[in-house]
Amino acid sequence: MIDLHVHLRGTLTPTMACKLAERNSISLDAARWAAKGYGWHDFTSFLQAYDHIASVIATAQDLEEVAYDYLSRSAQLGTTYVEFMLSPPDLMRVGVAFDDQLAALSAARERALELHGIDCRMIATAVRHLGPAAATQAARLAVGRRHDILVGFGLTGDERMFPVGDFKEAFSIARSEGLRATAHAGEHLGPDTIIEAIEVLGLERVGHGIRAVESEVVMRQLASAKIPLEVCLTSNLALNLYPSIGKHPIGRLNAAGCAIVLGTDDPSFFSTDIEMEYSLAAGVGLSAHDITAQANTASFRAILPSRH
Ligand SMILES: [Zn+2]
Repeated sequence: MIDLHVHLRGTLTPTMACKLAERNSISLDAARWAAKGYGWHDFTSFLQAYDHIASVIATAQDLEEVAYDYLSRSAQLGTTYVEFMLSPPDLMRVGVAFDDQLAALSAARERALELHGIDCRMIATAVRHLGPAAATQAARLAVGRRHDILVGFGLTGDERMFPVGDFKEAFSIARSEGLRATAHAGEHLGPDTIIEAIEVLGLERVGHGIRAVESEVVMRQLASAKIPLEVCLTSNLALNLYPSIGKHPIGRLNAAGCAIVLGTDDPSFFSTDIEMEYSLAAGVGLSAHDITAQANTASFRAILPSRH
């Protein structure tokens, strides 16, 4: 199994959150911490819970432990490769330099590879609702400190904020230095925004992109361009995009020839893991074998920059 869409901070388990909170003298809201999936009930409370829980990561050592914890748990399920999304400025704001973030992830990777045989890479992300200037800054930061573990540049956050064209500069900076491109699109907004994001940002994969199902034309374009959709089934159900797995468009996207890979998104907040995602996909006719083969070709590690 391969996990190609996972936000590193979203992997924080309650046990790890508690440990880091104690170590960093951060007080956690006990009711939130103890509740399943951190007790959020709508998108606003999800974001609040997310920021609150993620605030316990305050040092490079914390980051290394969180990444290693996810990798070792994933390896036990049979995962062989993970691409983590992480927004470097988030941790820089609490004093963890980008170099130290890269070193922490590398250390976690090496330990997990040696002890559990699982590999990983990192996608540096910009946060859409923080605006285009911050995204350009994030891209400059990413290309200024190249490292083997860093293979991609992505865009997360609220899809409804700012036109996609505002992020063209950030992506052209990132791509010009060999970073591979992905962005969240077509999760909350309609199918045309997916093609626009691919064309404007030069995407090689699309985060979610499931609303492509609403347009035959868009599905045909995705299928012929062979641009994979990073589908996160439990996340889509948890955020009420679809009422049940039976109503989820994954089967129709697959039937239309769209390439599909899987991710856990924010597994600790959605109470899922990659095994559950593969099993949900198997239930609608997509075999683990097919998805893993697809993910292998779609992973960004394929052409790692060797000159740095
Ligand atoms: Zn996501």
